[in-house]
Amino acid sequence: MSYVQTTLDRLQASSPGQNEFYQAAREVLESIRPLIEKDPLYSDQNIIERLVEPERQLLFRVTWQDDQNRIQVNKGFRIQFNSALGPYKGGLRFHPSVNAGIIKFLGFEQIFKNALTGLPLGGGKGGSDFNPKGRSDAEIMRFCQAYMSELYRHLGSTTDVPAGDIGVGAREIGYLFGQYKRLTASYEGVLTGKNINWGGSLVRKEATGYGAVYFAENLLNSRNESLDGKTCLVSGSGNVALYTIEKLYQLGALPVTCSDSRGCIYHDRGIDLALLKEIKEVRRGSLEEYIQQHPDARYLAVKDYPQRGHAVWHFPAQAAFPSATQNELTALDAKALIQNGVICVCEGANMPSTAAAIDLFLEAGLAYGPGKAANAGGVATSQLEMAQNASMTQWSFDEVDQRLQKIMRDIFTLSHQTAAEFGQEKNLVLGTNIAGFRRVANAMIQQGAV
Ligand code: GLU
Repeated sequence: MSYVQTTLDRLQASSPGQNEFYQAAREVLESIRPLIEKDPLYSDQNIIERLVEPERQLLFRVTWQDDQNRIQVNKGFRIQFNSALGPYKGGLRFHPSVNAGIIKFLGFEQIFKNALTGLPLGGGKGGSDFNPKGRSDAEIMRFCQAYMSELYRHLGSTTDVPAGDIGVGAREIGYLFGQYKRLTASYEGVLTGKNINWGGSLVRKEATGYGAVYFAENLLNSRNESLDGKTCLVSGSGNVALYTIEKLYQLGALPVTCSDSRGCIYHDRGIDLALLKEIKEVRRGSLEEYIQQHPDARYLAVKDYPQRGHAVWHFPAQAAFPSATQNELTALDAKALIQNGVICVCEGANMPSTAAAIDLFLEAGLAYGPGKAANAGGVATSQLEMAQNASMTQWSFDEVDQRLQKIMRDIFTLSHQTAAEFGQEKNLVLGTNIAGFRRVANAMIQQGAV
């Protein structure tokens, strides 16, 4: 039996019920096979067994009071997966779907993503099954304070530095930071994604979306193509989707879709970004509000989606940017994309395509940018925020944006060259996983059995 299956069998026995984690682990383990077969060092050092085991997993109770003074209980998580390359780094996700397996898959992906940036960042992730939908601002604040009341003892600007993810934006980071400061009496860069007035970095908000588009442009350029004039499908309407749409417009492309948990919009004239920002960033409303102002746009509710598929992927376009959540793009969707003429898929979300969908992209020779490379701009800019905090300086928008562009270009080049080194130039799944793995594994070996 191959080391891939042996490792997965062992994980399933010791950590049952963590399907998303097995999915993420299988992809990495299969991708690195050519390296493992070529270089016995990694097997001799038992690196795979060490790598799939988190250094530390925290699970804690979060007790808070709602507006009716009822006591509510949620689960809080933080996984400190790997610190070979730097302090644990990765976002917090507040969503009812969060469980130990989801946090583990996200933490695992984060290790390689962070390694690809070339910056000193270890891998971590956290969150809660708390559902922020419909909660008042005061409830959000009390929840964040309760969550941080436990987590603060495990954080530090050189230990573990969380940021946002689904359900955690600037507002939540503010409440989390305030509570951290109250409990520790220390004003340090222990969270990223902070407000620009008190330690945040310009471009951090935009970075994941902008980065995904920069990555796509590099990828397309390597095939003598560009985004200019391309019709693009985008899923999601959170931070990643909004700033993907913004950068697509800036590069001359036409984004025509977006979605939320209840449905999606198709607007063939192009998504009205100002309205979308107003609905999602200001009103925190539903996409149904979009068609009230644009009756020529189409709204499709989730109940009208194809079975085992997502409606946004079934419109004609040349590029697709999955920017919502894991496994939102299935084999059925991948077939529709390919049939409808899509030549590029670039992932702003974490693991949005199923394994079967990825196989179809690779078979069809699509320009496919896996999430751990394409969405690394967010965490990379978090590191730029940490650097600014540590030196008590603030860089201009242009300075940070230039650095982000260079980081995305370097990630593309590294992934592309690594894929070519192993004779599969077009396979960035292989390229990103081997490049990320090699950097982490070498550091672990050099640091000894710890
Ligand atoms: N949640 C983001 C990610 O998936 C950002 C993490 C960070 O900035 O630490 O990479």
